[in-house]
Amino acid sequence: MNVQSKIDGASTVGTERFDVVIVGAGISGVGAAYHLTTQCPDKSFVVLETQKTFGGTWSTHRYPGIRSDSDLHTFGYRFKPWTSAPIATASEILSYMGEVIEENNLAKHIRYQHTISSARWSSEANSWTIEAVRTDTGEQLRFTANFFWMCQGYYRHSEGYTPEWPDFDRFRGRVVHPQKWPEDLDYKDKNVVVIGSGATAATLIPSIADDCAHVTMLQRSPTWFRTGRNAIEIAETLRKLQVDEAWIHEITRRHILYEQDAFTRRTFSDPESAKKDLLSAVEAYLGPDYDIAAHFTPTYRPWRQRIAFIPDGDLFQSIKAGKASVVTDEIERFTETGILLKSGKALQADIIVTATGFHLSAQGDIEFQIDGKPLKFSDTVTYRGMMFTGVPNLVWVFGYFRASWTLRVDLVADFVCRLLNHMKATGARKVEVALRPEDHNMPLLPWIDPENFNPGYMMRGMHLLPKRGDRPEWQHNQDYWAEKDEFPAIDLNDRAFVYG
Ligand SMILES: Cc1cc2nc3c(=O)[nH]c(=O)nc-3n(C[C@H](O)[C@H](O)[C@H](O)COP(=O)(O)OP(=O)(O)OC[C@H]3O[C@@H](n4cnc5c(N)ncnc54)[C@H](O)[C@@H]3O)c2cc1C
Repeated sequence: MNVQSKIDGASTVGTERFDVVIVGAGISGVGAAYHLTTQCPDKSFVVLETQKTFGGTWSTHRYPGIRSDSDLHTFGYRFKPWTSAPIATASEILSYMGEVIEENNLAKHIRYQHTISSARWSSEANSWTIEAVRTDTGEQLRFTANFFWMCQGYYRHSEGYTPEWPDFDRFRGRVVHPQKWPEDLDYKDKNVVVIGSGATAATLIPSIADDCAHVTMLQRSPTWFRTGRNAIEIAETLRKLQVDEAWIHEITRRHILYEQDAFTRRTFSDPESAKKDLLSAVEAYLGPDYDIAAHFTPTYRPWRQRIAFIPDGDLFQSIKAGKASVVTDEIERFTETGILLKSGKALQADIIVTATGFHLSAQGDIEFQIDGKPLKFSDTVTYRGMMFTGVPNLVWVFGYFRASWTLRVDLVADFVCRLLNHMKATGARKVEVALRPEDHNMPLLPWIDPENFNPGYMMRGMHLLPKRGDRPEWQHNQDYWAEKDEFPAIDLNDRAFVYG
């Protein structure tokens, strides 16, 4: 059982002190809380979450059809079996997370409606001072913690990203961003244009298409999609054999991860054959007469942006049925009744949905200081995408883009708990990463190589992100298959770790 949180009444009345403060109660924060209770049971901690409930992404996004595009065997935690179809709705994911919280008695650690505004490190006190505001009462609160575990995700939850288009204000219908889907939006028998063709558009369109008069997916350029049955054969077989669910979860995870790794490697080594496979799956739904070259054949190598999974080809089925269509063109300007395209074509719309992405917010909009000096993460170099030079006692969870985010939540948590236990054993109060002598001439590069992975929100916010080096220790390499072995083998006595 955890040590209870306590009020440090001596000198800092109203300041609550914990060993660890976790930012956010999304899949990362709840995972961090689970691992802390199980691997570091002596640590006191609190999870501060700005929203009214847990779930992060899965409670923020409420547009019709919202679902994962990863399978839940790997998007689920390694410690709790997923027992339903692999692609899950937001409400199924929230139920699963709710069970994790309940089964592990985590609710008492989570404070909702607490927005962290600043975090200041003091080397004298070896602690973080964290200021938070209660969104329900406006009360200002202060916490101190030896360790700060950032599970804030990568985008701003309060608003999505909408580009500026000429004459945007002239449109007389309704404009909606999927991140703020209005509960009262009536799309029945309406003409809807969805701008964008990422995972959000691909999920939303089939789920509203039957009710709308017509849905048009307007894209500047095509996106790669994978499609297949919403089922995993090996899991079905093992279930028929009445194998224990914990085993099914583990075996299915390994199977999926092995196959995903092989496919990802093929997108680099033999992109043409990977493209052929993806395209033939689309053609199987749309038939040989559909213009797949124009609408579903991107110019970039698969996996340079996330590949959304389309379960049971539902997007393609809506297109085939004539309920939805795709237009590949550019916006010239908005009109009173819709959108005029650069080709001269006009799209009529009652509702325009801007599925145009996110605002990158990799620091949870928290203002940081180190010993009184403002911290710019872009001035730091990342240690394996989770720690930063010159930033003591802080770990940041940034998951995978080509594999499920949660795989990294578990890996990073194992690392943090090992690090905290190591510090306890050695009496260290502070740990910081620093470039080793052999790293000093290392080139410093942007967080991600745009040749490798380049979605719009990353490109727009790259200047805000930490730098990476050219060796595994100093980059987030997006490779679970390598990191699953590298992380447990990290030598905590390596010269990259400086203790105090
Ligand atoms: C629609 C959608 C579908 C996705 N599908 C997948 C998928 O299938 N597979 C996959 O791997 N990834 C997917 N992703 C990416 C997804 O965001 C991550 O996988 C994962 O949910 C992120 O979890 P997280 O807990 O790290 O961050 P989030 O889910 O973003 O949660 C962060 C939490 O921190 C809170 N927070 C932030 N700043 C503060 C602050 N200053 N003070 C207090 N609280 C704060 C937020 O309110 C939020 O609740 C999807 C993303 C979206 C938007």
